[in-house]
Amino acid sequence: MRERPTPAALVERARAGDPRAVARLISLVEDGADELPAIAAALAPHAGTAQIIGLTGAPGVGKSTTTNELVRALRARDQRVGVLAVDPSSPFTGGAILGDRVRMQDHALDPGVYIRSMSSRGHLGGLSAATPQATRVLEGAGCDVVVVETVGVGQAEVEVASLADTTLVLLAPGMGDAIQAVKAGILEIADVFVVNKADRDGADATYRDIQGMIGLGEREPGEWRPQVVRASAVRAEGIDDVVAAIDKHQAWLVEHGELQIRRERRAAAEIEAIALGVLRERIGTLRGGELLPGLAQQVATGATDPYRAAAELLDRLDT
Ligand code: GDP
Repeated sequence: MRERPTPAALVERARAGDPRAVARLISLVEDGADELPAIAAALAPHAGTAQIIGLTGAPGVGKSTTTNELVRALRARDQRVGVLAVDPSSPFTGGAILGDRVRMQDHALDPGVYIRSMSSRGHLGGLSAATPQATRVLEGAGCDVVVVETVGVGQAEVEVASLADTTLVLLAPGMGDAIQAVKAGILEIADVFVVNKADRDGADATYRDIQGMIGLGEREPGEWRPQVVRASAVRAEGIDDVVAAIDKHQAWLVEHGELQIRRERRAAAEIEAIALGVLRERIGTLRGGELLPGLAQQVATGATDPYRAAAELLDRLDT
């Protein structure tokens, strides 16, 4: 039997451009494998080398079409690009079933592009813990830019934003999107709005709506004002404007020290997610897995209250 490569060896191979090593590493991350700490340790020296772009929006607005064009534009600048397509609404999208092949066939043979769909099938902390680790894998594999694409379903958007240096929110005309966006609190997380499907009627109205809403927000001097660009991803139009808006935001981040702030905030969330995952696992194993159910029974029957029960759990963790 062949020996399994060590995490360090896999990272080494990924850096040398071996796509199978990258795929393997992301699978390990996705599965929440025991090797995760060793993988993270091997990737640590490469932290902070990639620009992370989040891209989110409602189903059907054109996320994968836009990502495809974005990848093309970044490749034209000779940047190496990783794409993580994350669907938080379906835990079983599973790595490379359909998505990867159908999506972005254009880049299938390009060694400078890694494309991967992600699910959270086994990971302790779910997708919110697995995604940052997967971006680290792509960063470690030498990607200059990592695009994290998520279906916009409420909470997921906020998580993308917390992961990304620059968050793009995609809208399309005719869906009452602008108003939806405000409802979902998207205005706060978008660094760049892309009004996609600009070839369709109503794109200008959507553009004006969103500009109007941005105009209403109060801003400190020097604060970032979200950019709004129009694009038609299917016609490959307006993509240069999207890239220009990303570049502008990137420059702003650097100039205002905000890049470092965002990355530290991101690291804090990552540490917390990992620690909470470990904690949850340890709680589950206390007294042979019997402590929590036992306490639950007592709380349910009123023999004790949930605060005392929680305090007892925490006491046990210390011993
Ligand atoms: P996603 O669900 O957000 O990833 O959206 P897709 O990229 O899969 O696109 C959904 C549909 O909208 C597809 O049929 C695309 O061809 C179409 N689409 C994407 N971009 C545009 C665009 O700029 N104009 C028009 N008219 N259709 C588009």
